Amino acid sequence: MANLPQGILPTLPCSLPKCHLPEDIDAAAVAREFTTPPSPLSLDHFMSDALWRDSVALTGTFRTFYSAATIIEAWNSRCLARQAQGFQLAPEAARAVRPAPCLGWIEVPFTFETESLPAATCSGFLSLVPDGNGGWKIWLLRTILEEFRGQPSVDELEPNTPTAHRPFHDGASYECVVVGCGQSGLSVAGRLQALGVSYLVVDKAPRVGDSWLQRYESMKYTAASVICFCLPFGPTFTDEYPDLMNRQELARGYQDWAERYSINISFSTELVSGTWDEDHRKWTLQLRQQQGEQITTRSITCSHVVMAVGAGGHEPVRPTYPGEDIFQGDILHTAQYKSPHQWEGKHAVIIGSANSAHDAAADMVGTGMASITMIQRSRTCIIPVEYMPKFSKGSKLADRQQLSNPLTVNRLVSILSIRGQIAQNPERFDALERAGFKVDRDGEVIAHVTERYGGIIWTLETAPISLKDWFVKVKSNSHPVTFTPTGLLFEDDTHLPADVVIFATGYKWNVRDTIGELFGEKIYDQVEDYWGLDKEGEIRGAFKPSPRMYGHIWFISGTTTHSRYYSRFIALHIKADVMGTPVPVYRDTPGDGVSKVVEMGKDEYKN
Ligand SMILES: Cc1cc2nc3c(=O)[nH]c(=O)nc-3n(C[C@H](O)[C@H](O)[C@H](O)COP(=O)(O)OP(=O)(O)OC[C@H]3O[C@@H](n4cnc5c(N)ncnc54)[C@H](O)[C@@H]3O)c2cc1C
Repeated sequence: MANLPQGILPTLPCSLPKCHLPEDIDAAAVAREFTTPPSPLSLDHFMSDALWRDSVALTGTFRTFYSAATIIEAWNSRCLARQAQGFQLAPEAARAVRPAPCLGWIEVPFTFETESLPAATCSGFLSLVPDGNGGWKIWLLRTILEEFRGQPSVDELEPNTPTAHRPFHDGASYECVVVGCGQSGLSVAGRLQALGVSYLVVDKAPRVGDSWLQRYESMKYTAASVICFCLPFGPTFTDEYPDLMNRQELARGYQDWAERYSINISFSTELVSGTWDEDHRKWTLQLRQQQGEQITTRSITCSHVVMAVGAGGHEPVRPTYPGEDIFQGDILHTAQYKSPHQWEGKHAVIIGSANSAHDAAADMVGTGMASITMIQRSRTCIIPVEYMPKFSKGSKLADRQQLSNPLTVNRLVSILSIRGQIAQNPERFDALERAGFKVDRDGEVIAHVTERYGGIIWTLETAPISLKDWFVKVKSNSHPVTFTPTGLLFEDDTHLPADVVIFATGYKWNVRDTIGELFGEKIYDQVEDYWGLDKEGEIRGAFKPSPRMYGHIWFISGTTTHSRYYSRFIALHIKADVMGTPVPVYRDTPGDGVSKVVEMGKDEYKN
């Protein structure tokens, strides 16, 4: 039923543990019983299908290891290399996690330290399940780099702290330049400031929040109440902000945040090119700054560049059909769409059926359009945001609990939650099918975000998609073949009249191409593709050192949750390098871990 191309996630060897935890289970007692601190560990401590995900603490990057045998080898070698010690379980903070009545585990937080440089404090979680013999074993192990010993916390920054920002002028030098002041650039900048790294943010836009302000007028952030929009260091949006924020409110919240933390930004300043000097390990960046009519070119140097230039929201992609030159109406992408008023009394065709298509269609309803028709290529995944597992609240603990998980675990938990609720509320989806809209009920939200780059509709219970009520027609049984002077001709020989055709067909995601344009072919060859998943189910290219060029160039984008959480690891890596003790990166997979990943894929938990 799903319209997903077969991706990596369903092939990974992960199943949620089948375990009925009694309501009154004493999680602290289970944790106390599991007295073994997590080092050294032996095979006996693990379920055979265990997983370990490390977030920079022991591998210097994001890695997921599958199977007890692989984990043991990697774990013991990394603990030795990083001189891990001082493991402390926190039984009192243990909790029972029950994604479904027949599935569950006991989650026990722990802390530890790494002595080899850069010396760090780290945290983690053990997820324990009954071993069938009255004891408990580890099903999931997670480890997270927290902070470097003797250095400030990457998670804390007081508002209005006096800063000694280096002024921006030709020839200026910084430890880091952050390109882009969207949610990703702001998050990295704030964390660099917390760590005392000298930085400058440059953005070609004239103000914070511009990437949102440029979008269509009616845009609303339906997910705000569930998907946390907060930037680092505490709540970004006070109670005065509504649950359903519009683009101005979101931009204002981000502007207030940037002012509160005195983020060092040079606006109307575009990065136009850059070169890397391997001998001196420095970038030279060429910037074009516009002040009124005046354009100035400046050259600055830095040791690290963070590319926070946005992915999936800037460069539109769309199919082309013959006959565009004879079509007498307007053709645009939703990236250019602002409002429908100029087309009153006209026929609109929207190509695409996910979020942007629905936003544009909803925007047109009630504005006197003669007709609105949405063209659906394949089934569309609908995620009522209230069906999502309730864990995205943006606190330090919630972020760690959710985002330290292997994606394959988050995928299974969310599928379980979403599919179950869809099954309990079928009428809402059946109504859409009756209106001609094909619904994908698989709940593959994680795979859509990470492997399909979108193609979802996020919606609220209070804002149901009702194509019938909206007076929006759907055509999902045939594809367009050509434009005509007055509309579009389809495979089934039907002709739809159109005065405006809007492509809601998404954006280009791979920032690597932008890297090629700005820094040339050599740097392009040294960095990874951006987004999509590697064979361990980790996001490619994002938030971590590139395999062929240790650090010095970093990528970040994604949802606010990605920006907020993953910015901490980029900032920590840069701080370590500035201290002269870069975090070592482990890229091996012991034994036959990789082939096991493929072999064991058949064990996937099926709902
Ligand atoms: C219609 C639409 C709706 C969306 N809705 C949501 C949503 O509800 N929730 C969600 O989490 N995400 C949503 N997204 C995805 C959204 O784009 C990202 O979550 C978010 O904008 C990414 O933030 P960012 O900071 O990575 O990049 P952006 O916000 O895109 O910021 C990138 C910044 O880089 C600057 N820049 C680019 N190139 C240069 C250069 N060469 N020199 C200087 N500056 C440069 C740009 O001016 C821009 O300010 C939506 C996207 C679209 C298109």
